[in-house]
Amino acid sequence: MIIPRRKLNLWERLYLPAVIGGFKVTLRHFFKKKVTMQYPEERWVVPEGYRGAPYLVKNQEGRTKCVSCQLCEFVCPPKAIRITPPGPGGAPEAGNVEKAPKQFEINMLRCIFCGYCQEVCPEEAIFLMKDYSLTSASRAEMIYDKEKLLALGGVHQDKIGKWKKKAQEACDQGMVP
Ligand code: SF4
Ligand code: SF4
Repeated sequence: MIIPRRKLNLWERLYLPAVIGGFKVTLRHFFKKKVTMQYPEERWVVPEGYRGAPYLVKNQEGRTKCVSCQLCEFVCPPKAIRITPPGPGGAPEAGNVEKAPKQFEINMLRCIFCGYCQEVCPEEAIFLMKDYSLTSASRAEMIYDKEKLLALGGVHQDKIGKWKKKAQEACDQGMVP
């Protein structure tokens, strides 16, 4: 079926009304409140409790809270976490009280910010922070090592201090170099 093309009338053939109509739309939006965010210079302010990237934390005494139990590695759905415990003869931070990991890596390309690692951690050593936009120049840079995770995580006030007494005992017994 061929639909005959409708002929434009004189007003339509002038094109000027269509141009003016376009300008009217532009002007209407020109004076409206700007909603475009100048990303990445401007960023969303995320609410408290937002689940962003997971980082490791230290306690107020500067000790790594993680004790290499590997629960988070086990539970992580996309297998983004890889932990190397200190092993026999390793160098725990306070005698044999704490078993700080030799290496702790999170592949941020795999991480889905699910929060399971934070939920399962018995030491409150890993927290999902507010970073939601991670970028890098290479895939390798997206694998965050222990030092980077600790630097980004910062200090978490340890109110219970369950290892404090044992660490002090280890110090008193000369187990800490
Ligand atoms: S937030 Fe989820 S996906 Fe990311 S490291 Fe933790 S458990 Fe794995
Ligand atoms: S971050 Fe927590 S759950 Fe993961 S290995 Fe360390 S202590 Fe265990």
